Amino acid sequence: MNIVLGIVVAVKSKASKTDEEWRSKLTPEEFHILREKGTENPFTGKYLKHKAHGVYVCAGCGAELFGSEAKYESGTGWPSFWDSVGGSVELREDRSHGMNRIEVSCKNCGGHLGHVFDDGPKPTGKRYCINSAALRFKEKTEKFKK
Ligand code: FE
Repeated sequence: MNIVLGIVVAVKSKASKTDEEWRSKLTPEEFHILREKGTENPFTGKYLKHKAHGVYVCAGCGAELFGSEAKYESGTGWPSFWDSVGGSVELREDRSHGMNRIEVSCKNCGGHLGHVFDDGPKPTGKRYCINSAALRFKEKTEKFKK
């Protein structure tokens, strides 16, 4: 019973925080995007032209969200991916701002990441349009290379 409770508490403490806790953990820009569903200005994000080999994780909770192999240049001004790491994101209809879009959020912490559209490249045809400030980059380590 104690083990089960411990797991529940551990999961809750990672994913569920008060606004005050999130503010102390995130930069003001990260807070605005992840917790207030903000959008960074196009062509300003730090990962727009980033091409290194690795994985983009949630700036809020560290969950792995997008692999560099699925990143491409969409010309929109935001980092774009044609796929997400399996089971890492949650999609929800978003009718705000007079538009009908699909919001993408982190499944683990609920942080807002961006939106997904159907005009992406093969093989998925998806364009995950993601705010740089919602992400942090983790380079793949050399030890897995031959
Ligand atoms: Fe997260």
